[in-house]
Amino acid sequence: MKKRYALRFSPTLVEQPIVSKLVRIYDVDINILNADVASGRGGKLIVELSGGQEALEESVAYLNEIGIIVSEMVKELIFLEDACIDCGACTAVCSPKALSLDEEAMLRFDASLCVVCGLCVQACPLRLFSVSDERGA
Ligand code: SF4
Ligand code: SF4
Repeated sequence: MKKRYALRFSPTLVEQPIVSKLVRIYDVDINILNADVASGRGGKLIVELSGGQEALEESVAYLNEIGIIVSEMVKELIFLEDACIDCGACTAVCSPKALSLDEEAMLRFDASLCVVCGLCVQACPLRLFSVSDERGA
């Protein structure tokens, strides 16, 4: 199974090899979807964990234990598509290619490819995207 989480951590945890430890000890695969991390001020990671249910639960328990605030990402990207002017700015930040311009330069959104990384939220000049809230894991 795959689940997405937001991980918030303090400056003291920034230097720790948290991701490699999860892979090694709990046998989960980690895909980092977004990272806002800086030495000295803590940070936030959006990750997708893949593995068995028990492995995911143990991983979250470990993260909580070492002081990371874990929130499961349960909602989807909200897109006000009708107001889109097809400028294409959002396509540049969407690495899974959920957003693309077709041969007539019209924006196409394929929700099945969206990993809810949130990068398009800031990229759109009309602010047509938003990501709904998380909940505690
Ligand atoms: S949140 Fe936006 S940028 Fe990220 S994958 Fe989905 S459509 Fe692309
Ligand atoms: S950046 Fe906004 S207005 Fe431009 S193509 Fe993307 S959704 Fe449409």
